[in-house]
Amino acid sequence: MLILLLTIVATLIILSLSSCCIDYSKFLEPKSEEITISGSEEDSAKIGELLEEYNFGDKDFSGSDDSLDEENFQDIDYAEIKEELADTTGYGVSPEEEVEFFANLEGIYPEEKFIQVKEYLKDFKILYPAGYFTLINITQGQDYHTGYGWFEVVNDNNLYNQEVMEALKDFDISLLADDFYGQYSVDLITITHELTHCGSGSFIYLFVKDLENYQWGTYYSYLIGSQIVFIEKDKMFFSKYELMEDIEAPDYFDKTYLDAGETGASDIDFTMILDELNAYTVSAKCAVACEEYIKHSINVGFGLLKQMSHLELYLNRCYEKYPEDWVSISGNKGVAFLIMKLWLEAEKYADAVKDDERFNEGNQHVAEFIYHPDNYGTIEKYFSDSGILPYKDKTFQEVSGELDTIKIYDINQ
Ligand SMILES: [Zn+2]
Repeated sequence: MLILLLTIVATLIILSLSSCCIDYSKFLEPKSEEITISGSEEDSAKIGELLEEYNFGDKDFSGSDDSLDEENFQDIDYAEIKEELADTTGYGVSPEEEVEFFANLEGIYPEEKFIQVKEYLKDFKILYPAGYFTLINITQGQDYHTGYGWFEVVNDNNLYNQEVMEALKDFDISLLADDFYGQYSVDLITITHELTHCGSGSFIYLFVKDLENYQWGTYYSYLIGSQIVFIEKDKMFFSKYELMEDIEAPDYFDKTYLDAGETGASDIDFTMILDELNAYTVSAKCAVACEEYIKHSINVGFGLLKQMSHLELYLNRCYEKYPEDWVSISGNKGVAFLIMKLWLEAEKYADAVKDDERFNEGNQHVAEFIYHPDNYGTIEKYFSDSGILPYKDKTFQEVSGELDTIKIYDINQ
């Protein structure tokens, strides 16, 4: 029972830290009142909710130990993919930007921790330059609370977690102890994920001033690497919240992202599913880039697969119940190109972590869903109906100007 409880608590803490536990639909609307992040409150409520609602599936915790057997993941060869992630091309950061960035972080972290954070970020810059670029660029462009706020929230979260652990002081919590590098890797996965959202959607105005008043929802932008990908479509399609009707036993992820009642978020089509797919791919990249420091389970593989499954559910329903929307989505090559690129990247990273027990907790049934011919077939049908496959090896930059519903803005200085 002790180990069961500890495993659940550890899983929940990690869940609350490494995932985006909010539905961004309500945050990324333009002109919404200033975003305030109340991470601790939100997460404490969420942890209670998770205890009740998180679907642990058939996993038997009774005999499991929280600490993983390192031999099981040390054999996985990440060399090639880590080399790709370490490519600095297009991710310039000026010394002035770094000075400002670290001056702000110094105000957030206690002195000793700041020294460790600074050391860690030096490594992070080398391991995952695109992630480092996002941290610097979004914190500089955003208002302080929306940018640096995420460093504050995640740092406070650690304090909150200590309170949780204090409440469990009768138990031996040493199993949960992790070194600084392990813990801060998890923090950075969360922060980089959230800052990717904070460079997407209506926040395009931070980089492209004349796009301040575009029609949110039909038009939308995604921060992908150092590029802002701006998408136009002729209308808003059916609501993503309808997908709950197609899920037999919704788990915590489904409820967070697809239950309008739970989030109270505004109605929106698959625009936000794509936004999450993009952000969860960033989480997975971050985890792979920093994997040498990570000793515990993090649900990045699960989160990524869940978003892929939501996209499949959306396209399934679109094809079956909204033939006009299917025609429109298939006829929009800009949208199709974005979906294809996001999907291929998500699939690549889901595949990269699939045998790593740190990153594949609970993955199997989601992977089975995604690769079931009924679901995977719809993705393939969409790519073939939209005629986008010949563009498979092109970059966003290369199709900009060629496909008329997609525009690319490079924010690299
Ligand atoms: Zn998210």
